[in-house]
Amino acid sequence: MSDVYDAAIIGGGPGGYVAAIRGHQLGLKTVLLEKERIGGVCLNRGCIPTKTLLADVEGILWSKQAAAHGIIDREPSVSFPSMMQRKNSVVDKIVGGLEKLLGDIGVTIVEDTVTRLEPGEVVTASGERVQAENIIIATGSRPWTPPIEGIDSPGVVSTREILSLSERPQRLVIIGGGIIGQEFAAIFAALGTEVTVIEALDRILMQVDPDLTKRYASLLPGRGIKTHTSALVRHIHKTDNGLRVVFEKKSKEIAVDADLVLTATGRRPYFGGLDPEEAGVEIVDGAVSVDEHLRTGAEGIYAIGDVLGRYMLAHEASFHGEIAAENISGMERTADKACVPSCVFTIPQISWVGMTEEEAQSAGLSYRSSTFPLAASGKAVALGEPRGWIKLIEDPEANRLIGAHLMGPQVSELIGELTLAIQSGMSASDLADTIHAHPTIAEAVRESALGLLDGSIHAAARVKQHTPT
Ligand SMILES: Cc1cc2nc3c(=O)[nH]c(=O)nc-3n(C[C@H](O)[C@H](O)[C@H](O)COP(=O)(O)OP(=O)(O)OC[C@H]3O[C@@H](n4cnc5c(N)ncnc54)[C@H](O)[C@@H]3O)c2cc1C
Repeated sequence: MSDVYDAAIIGGGPGGYVAAIRGHQLGLKTVLLEKERIGGVCLNRGCIPTKTLLADVEGILWSKQAAAHGIIDREPSVSFPSMMQRKNSVVDKIVGGLEKLLGDIGVTIVEDTVTRLEPGEVVTASGERVQAENIIIATGSRPWTPPIEGIDSPGVVSTREILSLSERPQRLVIIGGGIIGQEFAAIFAALGTEVTVIEALDRILMQVDPDLTKRYASLLPGRGIKTHTSALVRHIHKTDNGLRVVFEKKSKEIAVDADLVLTATGRRPYFGGLDPEEAGVEIVDGAVSVDEHLRTGAEGIYAIGDVLGRYMLAHEASFHGEIAAENISGMERTADKACVPSCVFTIPQISWVGMTEEEAQSAGLSYRSSTFPLAASGKAVALGEPRGWIKLIEDPEANRLIGAHLMGPQVSELIGELTLAIQSGMSASDLADTIHAHPTIAEAVRESALGLLDGSIHAAARVKQHTPT
């Protein structure tokens, strides 16, 4: 290949492929190098497959509830292979559409592993040398597993393998009670699998506002999910009856048997066999180090997405992809000022953006918080999912919202409004002055904002005030 590209992008996940599309819009001659399938973890074995399964599971739970209410005459019988088949079709459809889009706009795709990079050039496993003025490292992340005896036993799987099962396990142990662990717990418990979650920390969903975590955790026993917190897995071994996971909790050893063990203990940046330091790229704590323009210290080399070890979310990677392409085209965009929302697609869902109360306290801020219950939302009651809250946190001195924490049906769809509000420095009054459509869960956002003003209408929001001592 004799062409010199404006940008060579290593990795075709939501970071890399978005950089390629944005680069094309800006007139950059772009090549995308991908060793597996375009779409990366997100489209092939992360966001899209899990959310497809969760959508099916919501339908199954709705049918069970409808049967309990006598609306339909029997509970649904579920075909796990059909669910997995639908999940595969959704992935194929989305990845196929993306491949077509990239082909139609003329992005060159090289299906190969990049084995070496240096400023101005990348080399692939088949020996192809690709010259480019700029290089974007978008190689993503991979699962990290703690050193537990027996963790390599057959039947102990990562999130990648669990998405390729042909049979549903009867008993599933999930090591790790974070976001990904909880999403898989929600999927399998709804299908009738006995699920046990073992979490080393003293609560599940450590990143989530503690009030929401507590409320969410209280729903799990009713869903058939057992949870052990402050519990350290010591070893996993094979028995006549499957696998036995032995963990320590309050100085006692406890064993739980399973057909399958999922490790959901976090992800770490992944360089795909490359040595970025050889090219002059600085690695700090296992992640690529960049400035606010996403430039590494090496001439013409950028890095984006999970490989930076920040939020490790697809929308952050894609946002970075746009910024890197824009900077390559001569703009001076920065990535650091953006608010990054997070979602847990459990049932009910959880979403948040900005600071938690704990973070506001650590930052020495005085704040007020208002928590409005979804039990007082007509829409939540109509949807049969009134167990949730909308909590808003405001800095009264600066008169601006600093955090929003939501639990309830489809609250992942509401976090965009609050991300915009927080990023643009809006206040509770700005939200309250905005008419929200009825009947929607979004009305509860406005109600929570009213709680920070003269009081919410349909129920009293719980209002707290914190002043640093
Ligand atoms: C089960 C699960 C569920 C998730 N759900 C969500 C969710 O709901 N919402 C959300 O925002 N995030 C979710 N995530 C996280 C999300 O998938 C990642 O944040 C996102 O994929 C990161 O994008 P990326 O482009 O940085 O990297 P990746 O998607 O990891 O893509 C990197 C690409 O680089 C390629 N590559 C690596 N090395 C080389 C090389 N040497 N040569 C060529 N190609 C190479 C890889 O094959 C891969 O395709 C989930 C993750 C998992 C595991």
